[in-house]
Amino acid sequence: MEKKISIAIDGPAGAGKSTIARRLAKELGYYYVDTGAIYRTVAYFFDLWGISPKDIDGITRYIDELTVGIEYDEEGVQHMIMNGMDVTEDIRTQEIAQKASLVSAQPIVREMLLDMQRDVAKQHNVIMDGRDIGTVVLPKATVKIFLTASAEVRAQRRTKELTAKGQKADYNKVLKEIQQRDYQDTHREVAPLKMARDSVKLDTSELDIEGVIAAIKEIIAKKVVQ
Ligand code: C5P
Repeated sequence: MEKKISIAIDGPAGAGKSTIARRLAKELGYYYVDTGAIYRTVAYFFDLWGISPKDIDGITRYIDELTVGIEYDEEGVQHMIMNGMDVTEDIRTQEIAQKASLVSAQPIVREMLLDMQRDVAKQHNVIMDGRDIGTVVLPKATVKIFLTASAEVRAQRRTKELTAKGQKADYNKVLKEIQQRDYQDTHREVAPLKMARDSVKLDTSELDIEGVIAAIKEIIAKKVVQ
């Protein structure tokens, strides 16, 4: 099989990873893999079962009851399938994001999802976004980008996004949740959010989407000879 191209985009919540990755994937004709959605699906499953994301015994007992699938529709949109059910929309709440951040700290959960993420990258050219793509999932990724922005800018963006979707969002509450998730994601023992040594850092606080896309395209062009 010919070697596939993989672009890893890591960074904290609200840095613009998914918007940017989705756009770039479309332009380049790559698969977009939103790995946060995979952790959200796991969090959603345990939430339905009434098991706390911190309850390692409960998680260990019921994790075999869970199957997680990724499917792509004809538009290239990623769908998350939990035990045969499409939960793509159900997982997009602040509550599930918070629980995903806790459940993703459990080594048994990360272990279960590792091969699944690597398999997609083995079969397709991908732009994969998450927290540990450049460090753990795809340490040999063709290009690694670390997207970041100040917590305040990220909270503003997330508040706007949620409001646009018709969800209730209070800026101060969103900011607090983002700060809490940043702390949890960077302080966990397994695969914490951190920049890979060979990653290029981009601070998007002062850039609009077009600016970020242009900057990343330049980085990709230097590394990938099409
Ligand atoms: O990216 P998103 O905000 O949807 O991710 C939800 C949570 O899933 C993150 O806060 C993080 O704890 C977890 N996650 C992770 N590793 C990834 C992607 C997401 O631990 N590669």
